[in-house]
Amino acid sequence: MFKALIRASALLSLAIAAPLAAQAPAPVTAADLLRHIRPLASDEFQGRAPGTEGERRTTAYIVEQFQARGLQPAGENGTWFQSLRLATRRPETATLRWTGAQPGQLTGDNLVVTGREARETLADAPLVFAAHGARMPDRGIDQLAGANVRGAVVLILFEGPQVEGFPPIAERVRTVAAAGAAAVVVIVGDDVPWDQVRNVVRRGALRADDASVPRFSAIIPMAAAQRLITGAGGNMERLLNEQPGSSFRAVTLPGRVSIDATTSVTRTETNNVIGRLRGSGSTGENVTLLAHWDHLGLCRPEGAPDRICNGAVDNASGIAALIEIAGQLSRGDRPVRDVLFLATTAEEVGLVGAGWFADHPTVPLASIVAAINMDTIAIAPAGTPVAIMRSGVPGLDALVASTVAAAGRTLDPDDEAAALVQRQDGWALARRGVPALMVGGSFSNMQLLGRFLQNGRYHAPDDQADGQLVLDGAVEDTNLTVAIARRLADPAQYQRARPTSAGSAE
Ligand SMILES: [Zn+2]
Repeated sequence: MFKALIRASALLSLAIAAPLAAQAPAPVTAADLLRHIRPLASDEFQGRAPGTEGERRTTAYIVEQFQARGLQPAGENGTWFQSLRLATRRPETATLRWTGAQPGQLTGDNLVVTGREARETLADAPLVFAAHGARMPDRGIDQLAGANVRGAVVLILFEGPQVEGFPPIAERVRTVAAAGAAAVVVIVGDDVPWDQVRNVVRRGALRADDASVPRFSAIIPMAAAQRLITGAGGNMERLLNEQPGSSFRAVTLPGRVSIDATTSVTRTETNNVIGRLRGSGSTGENVTLLAHWDHLGLCRPEGAPDRICNGAVDNASGIAALIEIAGQLSRGDRPVRDVLFLATTAEEVGLVGAGWFADHPTVPLASIVAAINMDTIAIAPAGTPVAIMRSGVPGLDALVASTVAAAGRTLDPDDEAAALVQRQDGWALARRGVPALMVGGSFSNMQLLGRFLQNGRYHAPDDQADGQLVLDGAVEDTNLTVAIARRLADPAQYQRARPTSAGSAE
């Protein structure tokens, strides 16, 4: 017994005498994460809204922490930043007129139009009905085919079919706008409370401000759509029922449409923060780790007892993990591939910062062998099973599963997390063909996640760095992500799968 102990301690002292470079750093602790969550979620950071003083403080903090961990700037022009523009647009007045079988017009309560600029007019444009406005080349769906939508007013349906992977309405609007439509008019069906949708849209919203914004985006209720389509010489029944959705082809109606709209437009600039840890090899490849830094800022009206949505869980926790992972990977054995650290802006307004990066990447998208997103990680206790979101990437699943097992954790047996895949930044990269995943305990147990989403803290002033933070699971997830990132950064252990069919990836 004693002999064994003596032998073991001899081995231990040998291990200590081994070269310093190979020493693995001590794992990340709850105190490490809290050290970042506290300032990021403090009132001084004002809820980290894009384009505000809160942004300036937040991005300065992230740069300082990245720098201290030996990262190099990897944004634009040798800086840490990639800037993009956002705009808050609030619809004011609008009229939509049509010619055809029964000329007419919509205005007032049956029409809300958001213009790209403060004053937009469109005269005598073609009118196209495009079902859901979906384009899914991998499934042979192209509902915009069959009509020339360039410069047209395109009608699409708000609700999509309950099919996994069917693009949400915001993405379908982008698709139609990208095809060159002058106006995207969304028909809100009778199953959706029109008054509520109208009021939400009327309040206005902070969104991306780029070419993807249509000159006009509008909503109308079903009854108004019926009047417009019939009046313009179409037949609603036939448009809805004659063609199956999967092979639907857009239909041009006989009438023409004119629109006038005024909109209040306020523009602002915001930034992604990007750092790079140089790998020991020259592979020209990288693993990208990302987390969104932004939150909702002042989210309650003046006079409210607490106006600041601090976003401790959402997503100071993910940024804290990102910073600590940078520290882990920059010490000990240097990864072979580069590791890119991307702190995104404007996730809360629709994955805008991540989407901008995907559309204007600072490294070729094909050089990203895998991306791991971290969002809302501080809600699960230690020992929570690990869910993999967006699994099914060849080579990636097995590597993640064996790393999870090596960490002494278990995999979540169900696939409930898949329902959330389009609601996180990794999706912006995944839809461009980058193998992207989230790995962790905070979305393996839907009861746990549901409790956070529905107990009044989510997107509310109560998401603060207080006693309600659960960091034990976050610590496990952070250390697990370090281990996964290390393996992904090693060409001997992982290669990005080549796309099997043309067009399915970059
Ligand atoms: Zn959020």
